[in-house]
Amino acid sequence: MDGALSLLRLGCRLSRKVSLMKTMTCEQLGGPCGLPHHGNTADEVIKAQDRHLKEAVAGGDATHQVALKDMRGRWRHPISGMGWYRQAKRDFAALPED
Ligand SMILES: [Zn+2]
Repeated sequence: MDGALSLLRLGCRLSRKVSLMKTMTCEQLGGPCGLPHHGNTADEVIKAQDRHLKEAVAGGDATHQVALKDMRGRWRHPISGMGWYRQAKRDFAALPED
């Protein structure tokens, strides 16, 4: 009985975790459009943005080229890119949940 109860509690926690999504747009992450990225963590939305930039540029979207170049520069220069990354994490933490 106890086991079933704690399983139930765990289930509640898990479903709550899933609902802890936040949204950051391409624009908030330094890009040119308003496409929203949803994630539980800043890392998730940053990865989604990275993917989005690559896809947009691969699809011939010139407006995303600069943002993609900036993003690539950040991965290549982790020290100078860290400021941007920290800011993105702070922005994400300050967002209300969806
Ligand atoms: Zn975009």
